[in-house]
Amino acid sequence: MSSVNLFCDLANESINGLSVYQPGKPIDELQREFGLKDVIKLASNENPLGPSNFVKDVIKQNIDELSQYPDGNGFHLKNALVKKLGVTADMIALGNGSNDILDTIARVFLERGREAIYSEHAFVVYSMATQSVGATARVSKAKAYGHDLAAMNALVNDKTSVVFIANPNNPTGTWLKPNKLLAFIQSVPKHVIVVLDEAYCEYLDQSELPNTVEWLQQYQNLIITRTFSKAYGLAGLRVGYALSHSDIADLLNTVRQPFNVNSLGLVAAQAALGDDAYIEKSRKLNQQGLRQLEAGFDRLGLNYIPSVANFIAVDVGQKALDIYQELLREGVIVRPIAAYKMPNHLRVSVGLENENDKFLQAVAKVLSNV
Ligand SMILES: *Cc1c(COP(=O)(O)O)cnc(C)c1O
Repeated sequence: MSSVNLFCDLANESINGLSVYQPGKPIDELQREFGLKDVIKLASNENPLGPSNFVKDVIKQNIDELSQYPDGNGFHLKNALVKKLGVTADMIALGNGSNDILDTIARVFLERGREAIYSEHAFVVYSMATQSVGATARVSKAKAYGHDLAAMNALVNDKTSVVFIANPNNPTGTWLKPNKLLAFIQSVPKHVIVVLDEAYCEYLDQSELPNTVEWLQQYQNLIITRTFSKAYGLAGLRVGYALSHSDIADLLNTVRQPFNVNSLGLVAAQAALGDDAYIEKSRKLNQQGLRQLEAGFDRLGLNYIPSVANFIAVDVGQKALDIYQELLREGVIVRPIAAYKMPNHLRVSVGLENENDKFLQAVAKVLSNV
């Protein structure tokens, strides 16, 4: 927020401490700015394949319904989730993206005087959601850039209301093994809500992926959040969901906006959920892209944080914001992550093979010039 904002004194105290979320630069903005034709964006962890033709057809078929309000209960999408995940519909809360859910969780469980715990280098929305309701953030030290569950546990006290854990984490791509995560959830007192943010779970090797949904039966203080923005390729339509004990879902559904998920988002997400082949193809493409980027970084002598998600954080050995700026001139948009206290890293999303190539070539060129 600008320091000379005329209305600061009028805004809630907790809002004044916030800064604006920095989204990735849009492609057309860069094209205009530098007069570039070929621009690639590997900045927001979207699926480079775009939505599948099947999903696009469903969207087109539903265009004529746009004058109507969406189904505020998301009946059909919830049913599809019930079938796929083996939960009951009363365990689901839908969100306008999972960011919406995270925000709703903060509104339900946090307020001034209560505390939220999350890790250093964890997804920035946890701090925004916490601060915006005036709650206190307890930020644990990271271990090899990932979550240090023992350090997080040490911060739990009587005032702790929520713990946020991204697994895999953005922007580090680090992943906690299921047995460690489960032990953490078991160790946390019942009055603490554990939010397990699985925005990237579809990218994991399915053999490694634990069935965290089953954990909900035993741990009533657990909330799992997922999204259609990443592997499902629907970031523009904004659909996410939370799975939890039905009493928590009730609270989330009471507080969320009545029509928080739009009608095209609902039908597209429902269709996407049935498209296993698209997810499989996306996962394979991502694995290949990760190996391609790692090999490229090795050739350039750059360190990177091993990632299981659809992005990777690379250490450029100097102020990454400068390299980011130079990459823009080459028509490549990536993400500087100084705001995550990682000033020498850039986060690059895994693109198509030719996009990854273009990015690697641009990095090589830019680094040889500085
Ligand atoms: C991208 C992302 C989300 C999801 O955002 P949406 O609002 O669903 O688009 C949630 N958590 C993490 C860690 C993410 O990186």
